[in-house]
Amino acid sequence: MKLVLLFLTLLGLLGCSNKSAPAPVGITADAETQPVTQTGDVADDPAIWVHPDTPEKSLIIGTNKSGGGLEVYTLDGTTIQTLPDGKFNNVDLRYGMTLQGIPTDIVVATNRSDDTLAIYGIDAGSLTLRPIAARKIETLPKSYGLCMYHSPLRNAYYVFVNNKAGEIRQYELFDDNGSVNAKEVRRFAVASQPEGCVADDELQSLYVGEEDAGIWRFSAEPDAPDTRTLIDSTREHLVADVEGLALYMLPQGEGYLIASSQGNSSYTLYDRRHGTYLGSFRIVDSTIDGTSDTDGLDITAAALGTRYPFGMLVVQDGSDLPSEKQNFKMIRAEKIFEALHLPYKQGIQ
Ligand code: CA
Ligand code: CA
Ligand code: CA
Ligand code: CA
Ligand code: CA
Repeated sequence: MKLVLLFLTLLGLLGCSNKSAPAPVGITADAETQPVTQTGDVADDPAIWVHPDTPEKSLIIGTNKSGGGLEVYTLDGTTIQTLPDGKFNNVDLRYGMTLQGIPTDIVVATNRSDDTLAIYGIDAGSLTLRPIAARKIETLPKSYGLCMYHSPLRNAYYVFVNNKAGEIRQYELFDDNGSVNAKEVRRFAVASQPEGCVADDELQSLYVGEEDAGIWRFSAEPDAPDTRTLIDSTREHLVADVEGLALYMLPQGEGYLIASSQGNSSYTLYDRRHGTYLGSFRIVDSTIDGTSDTDGLDITAAALGTRYPFGMLVVQDGSDLPSEKQNFKMIRAEKIFEALHLPYKQGIQ
């Protein structure tokens, strides 16, 4: 498999495949988190939480899949909380779920130690996460990727979980006396191993990365048919594995979808509304090392203070230097759009 990947990567570099893709442009990182403490493939997926009043106090939440659960970082990359609650793979969050009348920001992760949903509430005052699951919520065997969805039609909160067999399940979250409980509401599948996914709340869409194949768009609504649209494939601009997916959300359906094209350590960008491919970029070495083999990523269009006026991209780096461990890199979002000559403005989340 490694040899095949190497061959495909070489083909890509020689221009024998991905014919329509221009070479990725290079941009540089602006900050990085502390490395994880263990060596090996440990860090996986980030989520950016935007503080309601003081954007500089926003947080980056990263998974540790070797048992370290979640690491919580400030925007300058300092670890401020560690929740070593299991082998966590993917993490996502949504704002304002009402629990006993109190709007609560909710973080959910796949816990691969016991195939359950790990659920936390964020306290904006103390900048801490606290466990908030009503019970041990089992999902599907060998759970893997995860993303959240807030339906604007139902004002309901959902979690999508997938596994390496391609199964995808949708769970609805509900208030259980101030804790969060979940029930399964939908099952569907893709043909081979998925992982990265992201939901577009405003447009009621779910994007799923099928690692060897490409990016699919489904409806995110629980009663929708499982019809799907192929947005891009490993025959076009992506080099397997297709990994993290995230959305740069601008008003009225504008903005961008971004994907980790792990096989050539680059990132692809698409128009959010139509799914049109717009270009590729890499994060190259500067005073901060560049990124490679990225698993998860997240992006926000919200202004995060003067350093990140048009939001922030966060990507997992498979090899941090000089630590030789793994970490997450932070990039001013507008650098992507300037490098690819694309319009941008400030968004909300
Ligand atoms: Ca990895
Ligand atoms: Ca994530
Ligand atoms: Ca993967
Ligand atoms: Ca690196
Ligand atoms: Ca570094």
